[in-house]
Amino acid sequence: MSLPILYIVIPCYNEEEVLPLTSGMFLDKLLALKAAGRISDESRVLFVNDGSKDRTWEIIRQLSEKDSHYEGISLSRNRGHQNALLAGLMTAKDLADITISIDADGQDDINAMDEMITEYEAGCDVVYGVRSKRTTDTWFKRFTAESFYHLMNTLGAHVVFNHADYRLLSKRALEGLAEFREVNLFLRGLVPLVGFRSSSVYYERHERLAGESHYPLKKMIALAFDGITSLSVKPIRLITWLGFIISIISFIAIVVVLVQHILGMTVHGWSSTLVAIFFMGGVQLLCVGVIGEYVGKIYNETKRRPRFIVSERTFDEAENRETESD
Ligand code: UDP
Ligand code: MG
Repeated sequence: MSLPILYIVIPCYNEEEVLPLTSGMFLDKLLALKAAGRISDESRVLFVNDGSKDRTWEIIRQLSEKDSHYEGISLSRNRGHQNALLAGLMTAKDLADITISIDADGQDDINAMDEMITEYEAGCDVVYGVRSKRTTDTWFKRFTAESFYHLMNTLGAHVVFNHADYRLLSKRALEGLAEFREVNLFLRGLVPLVGFRSSSVYYERHERLAGESHYPLKKMIALAFDGITSLSVKPIRLITWLGFIISIISFIAIVVVLVQHILGMTVHGWSSTLVAIFFMGGVQLLCVGVIGEYVGKIYNETKRRPRFIVSERTFDEAENRETESD
């Protein structure tokens, strides 16, 4: 069997501070794997510039001129981490036998790649990088992130606990992933749906080498919400149940009120009336909001806009945007 071609896919958004520090690490890893006779000479480090506003693309271009192992593509504008990653994976799909996706900031331990490839050699098409500890994250980040996984799983979006987007995918798995045409992307939830044999590799997560996280609490909540509503209709079912339970309670309340009326024990309290009105108002608004979220998703999906458009590449290729039109 010939050696597999590995593409390390790295989404980058405003990473001018961190790229000069981490790009060398990725290349060293690639060269070490090559020297160990585990991957082919055609393996590459593929950066995806996600519409950065700083010098990120310039740095990527310079790297690719300096060393032919570096390649880059640039998106026409900022599309967010998930879309940028998909753009990289879909580009690598036709060029590589395996891809490993990793963040640009050096937080994920690149040494876990060796073990990922071992798992691939053992017949796995998907290998998840799972954080064994989160000691370097703040208590708050750890708590919110862990609650995120629990909430996602309870609400029917099954994701691998403590796995972000550091993972190995084989060509077969990438081709499977390409079949999922959804615009609302949540790769962590999609990859398990692609199937194939999978396993996990554990590593310790470090601190960002430079620059700042692009995932503050607000974005994390948005991501959780997106993840849940793209993968599961459980929240809508919960709303139905809530409506059902409230209807039963209301029915009992009506009986109680009628009995009190008949017994002549009426009138005390507008407070209870008001509380009920406020409560119902709140519940209804919340439920309409959740349903609206799904309607919005349908709206976006029906338009079938491209998930990314590649504007530049450091290598030649005729195609210029996500094709595979039906
Ligand atoms: N990223 C991206 N587009 C965005 C935001 C982030 O491509 O709009 C990239 C970013 O450059 C990094 C990765 O996604 O390589 C993860 O982002 P970050 O490290 O900020 O998130 P955290 O690790 O704090 O969750
Ligand atoms: Mg990070």
